[in-house]
Amino acid sequence: MSYDESCLFCRIGRGEASADMVHEDDLVVAFRDISPKAPTHVLLIPREHVISAAELGQQHAEMLGRLFGVAAKLARDAGVADEGFRLVTNAGPGAGQSVNHLHFHLLGGRALGWPPG
Ligand code: 5GP
Ligand code: ZN
Repeated sequence: MSYDESCLFCRIGRGEASADMVHEDDLVVAFRDISPKAPTHVLLIPREHVISAAELGQQHAEMLGRLFGVAAKLARDAGVADEGFRLVTNAGPGAGQSVNHLHFHLLGGRALGWPPG
């Protein structure tokens, strides 16, 4: 599994940097965003170093299936599944990606405007 020791989210995925974990398995981990933008704001990441959604391919199918299933469970557990939540990833600087390791934001607990800025 590829790993970049200079990557913050690789380090969180390996337990080398601390985070407020809400889920861990062999493929993905989820933890609370350090600067939450909504009452529920969780980040879901692969343990493997993937830079962004622009790199995804068929080889990531198992990881993505797991990640989306975990996201749905976390949304239900947080009590936001019925009222509505957003699962979003920023890819590249123009979209505001600030950590170059694939991550999906799970946002909920407030009204979410559309389209995002
Ligand atoms: P992006 O801007 O790349 O879409 O999202 C990166 C997210 O990572 C931001 O929401 C930011 O608050 C979060 N973040 C950055 N550094 C840390 C950290 O050390 N710990 C946690 N839990 N979240 C972080
Ligand atoms: Zn990484």
